[in-house]
Amino acid sequence: MTEHYQHRARKRFGQNFLHDAGVIHRILRAIHAKPGERLLEIGPGQGALTEGLLSSGGMLDVVELDLDLIPILKGKFDSNPNFTLHQGDALKFDFTSLNPAPNSLRVVGNLPYNISTPLIFHLLENASLIRDMHFMLQKEVVERLAATPGGGDWGRLSIMVQYHCAVEHLFNVGSGAFNPAPKVDSAIVRLVPHATLPHPAKDQRLLERVVREAFNQRRKTLRNTLKALLSGEAIEAAGVDGSLRPEQLDLAAFVRLADKLHEQTTVAPAH
Ligand code: SAM
Repeated sequence: MTEHYQHRARKRFGQNFLHDAGVIHRILRAIHAKPGERLLEIGPGQGALTEGLLSSGGMLDVVELDLDLIPILKGKFDSNPNFTLHQGDALKFDFTSLNPAPNSLRVVGNLPYNISTPLIFHLLENASLIRDMHFMLQKEVVERLAATPGGGDWGRLSIMVQYHCAVEHLFNVGSGAFNPAPKVDSAIVRLVPHATLPHPAKDQRLLERVVREAFNQRRKTLRNTLKALLSGEAIEAAGVDGSLRPEQLDLAAFVRLADKLHEQTTVAPAH
């Protein structure tokens, strides 16, 4: 990146700017944007990824919160008719206002780490509009997103994101690629919303509830952690061994538990 503009990185906005050209190219290659595609970049900063995204010929919308970065971004990219800048908080941004066709929006971001999880959930509220997402995140978060059942990384984040998306941990990025260097390692993840949910729950809010309750005390058995929601018999009837711990259950089993809870709450009590 050129350093003509003097912008002091702000901690409260999670600003760690990418300056390693090799890493920037690797990310752009992984995204492989094509002319005419609808691209959305969250937190463009000083434009490290923006430049390459625009040169793909895609139609790029960017959402940046920091007012001080707006003139910098305008100065660099406003002359490009494919560039649209939105100043504001990505967590409050209404993605449907971009009017993308279903399954078309390609979301990209070297995300501020403090908003990464709520932002992914915010985006997943409109998963049907999204073709894919490529994010730079804290490496530990990527490991949790891509986790498989049975290990310590498998939890609420893995399950709720894998409910909606296929997750691929693409590669790790050392802290030296950023200015200033963050204290943690980073990684690039690709999330691709499923065209059809592989394990649809009858009520997604109940799935969230079961998963939250189960992992509140991840060392305990399901029979214990879920006792306010489901009896031991109901757990068994869902085809789940109540003596297991939550991290031993796959997504399909959590969906069966949520559907059992749904059955319980919708069946009228017998007189
Ligand atoms: N994409 C740039 C790069 O790779 O060099 C900047 C990455 S920096 C880690 C995160 C960027 O997100 C910053 O520009 C920051 O101002 C912006 N940001 C922080 N919170 C935001 C929010 N809630 N909505 C939109 N942008 C935000």
